[in-house]
Amino acid sequence: MTGSRPFAPTDDDLSQCVRCGLCLEHCPTYAETRLETQSPRGRLYLIRAISDGVIEPTPNALGHLDSCLQCRNCEAVCPSGVPYGRIMEQARADALGRGAAPFSWRLRALFLREVIARPGRLRMFAAALRASQRVGLLSLAQRLRFVGTSATLAPRTRGQPFTDTGLIARPEGEERARVAMLSGCIMPLAYGDVHRATARVLARNGCAVSAPAAQGCCGALHAHNGDLDTARALARRNIDAFLNEAPDAIVVNSAGCAAAMKEYGDLLTGDAAYRDRAREMSALVKDVHEYLVGLPFEAPTETLDLSVTYQDPCHLAHAQRISAAPRQVLNAIPGLRLAEMEDADRCCGAAGVYSFTQAEMSIRLLDEKMLDALNTGADVIATANPGCLAQLEAGVRRGGGRARVRHVIELLDRAYSATGI
Ligand code: SF4
Ligand code: SF4
Repeated sequence: MTGSRPFAPTDDDLSQCVRCGLCLEHCPTYAETRLETQSPRGRLYLIRAISDGVIEPTPNALGHLDSCLQCRNCEAVCPSGVPYGRIMEQARADALGRGAAPFSWRLRALFLREVIARPGRLRMFAAALRASQRVGLLSLAQRLRFVGTSATLAPRTRGQPFTDTGLIARPEGEERARVAMLSGCIMPLAYGDVHRATARVLARNGCAVSAPAAQGCCGALHAHNGDLDTARALARRNIDAFLNEAPDAIVVNSAGCAAAMKEYGDLLTGDAAYRDRAREMSALVKDVHEYLVGLPFEAPTETLDLSVTYQDPCHLAHAQRISAAPRQVLNAIPGLRLAEMEDADRCCGAAGVYSFTQAEMSIRLLDEKMLDALNTGADVIATANPGCLAQLEAGVRRGGGRARVRHVIELLDRAYSATGI
């Protein structure tokens, strides 16, 4: 592919793949289709072939790249250290930049840039979505086939939106740290309760918690879709907003956002004005469970008599390589029994906007995930990412049992406050 490559030297990255195939069985889309073109190795081969001009970036070829979940399971198991996520983002950016991407792909980029990245428009969009969900308009439109199945996977609001900024929680007892919390874009609108629980848990553990008013969307969805320019603009805005507060840590309860923010240093490596600050910012970013375990957090004394199964968000387990910390948090809750499901770190099919753009594959993966969760007999499915929360809640609505879906931090918060879930 042509074009500037400020993000990374894709040729160097690509040449690390020795085509051993060890990643294949770990790839959800390959497991479903058994097609080489739907595997990491096949996709890397396609990117190389398009890059070398051996094949054209036809809609068919790009469709195989677009059907990738970007779950990065392949990256986590690759013995050669192929930076698959970075390669895929750059390949999508090249396709978008040279106008080869299909119309639906460009439309998605427009929506992400003009709605998701703009808080005012996103609030209006979310209000319209909420209203149509409340009166059953979306379900009706889906039954009449005006919209696809993906409409039923849209997040449902949990509690009031989170709009707090500035100092949002004072430390209980002696101050141990000053932390800044990411609000993000969709999370404060759909899962305001999770943000409030996170602030309470951090305060309980001696943190003064702030939410910088000037922060915004982390840019993860834009980067995954190949709109690296918008992702960089959002990263710069967050770097200014967070570093101006000089926090001890930047705590994030959304796995996808934390993964993206930990990679701001890479994303802005070609930006002389922001390169150093981007690295400084990335070093401060902590997943909330990682942060709590490192503090260390106070074990709750109240009992939660619950059986809980944990779904690893891909961008926590594979991108950030964090799988023990959320389990340590759950295991610290008295009375809580952790019932591991099969393939807990296999993608649930949410994958950012994947559930809307690739609804069929998304639902196949979701139905398998719900079966695995159901087999544990758990009362609660816990996870740590807004996309996974929305997808698993949709799985329950689709008939995947009666389990409640909760963020891990919500459970810890309930255990501290001795309130039921
Ligand atoms: S990406 Fe890694 S694991 Fe997969 S074929 Fe290439 S070298 Fe092997
Ligand atoms: S990121 Fe996930 S879906 Fe994409 S090739 Fe790798 S394992 Fe497969």
